Amino acid sequence: MKAIIFGAPGAGKGTYSTRLKTKLGVEVIAMGDIFRTQVKENSELGKKVQSYVEKGALVPDEIVVEVLKQHLAKVPNGSGVILDGFPRTLEQAKTLETILQLDIIILLDVPDWIIIERLSSRRICKNCSAVYNTRFLKPKIENICDKCHGELYQRPDDNPDVIQNRLKIYQDQTSPLLIYYKEKNVPIITSKTTDIDTPPEPLVEQMFEELKKLKIVN
Ligand SMILES: [Zn+2]
Repeated sequence: MKAIIFGAPGAGKGTYSTRLKTKLGVEVIAMGDIFRTQVKENSELGKKVQSYVEKGALVPDEIVVEVLKQHLAKVPNGSGVILDGFPRTLEQAKTLETILQLDIIILLDVPDWIIIERLSSRRICKNCSAVYNTRFLKPKIENICDKCHGELYQRPDDNPDVIQNRLKIYQDQTSPLLIYYKEKNVPIITSKTTDIDTPPEPLVEQMFEELKKLKIVN
């Protein structure tokens, strides 16, 4: 299975990719995570990425594509792969075609109000970066990390106005890509969340059934 997963920030791409990885034994290449780790480790790539981020610029395609190629090269032969955070533009989608033959697009469709509710209740440990949620995943002691007793904070971009803006950017980026893949006849499976308290398991099962129907997994 060669797949792309699309979903707004907070739609649960990480959760779904991890579960599909476990269930299907596929590799997940999450560009955002790769860049964050490189910046943290202050590697050559990390420094480059950081310099663009500081300027408020996007990391140029040639760097993103190079990193993608490096990570694809590490995927064992015959193993499936899910791309998360790539492609973001039509240019990147066209480049991807020359590198990888896609089988499927996985689209997480989560209403804006659920995303806003989820993200604005997210809290992160200042010390160990563990993620909590004041609604679903409360720490034992308010505002204190269960694991390391660090203080919890809210990311400045996890407030409703900024989230609205991030959602708009996502829509603007993703809509043309979905049209592009439809025209290319790449099948799209959509996982629709309608309730804020829906756990991911039944949705993952559903996704798995659809992949089987399409004979993308067996
Ligand atoms: Zn902690």
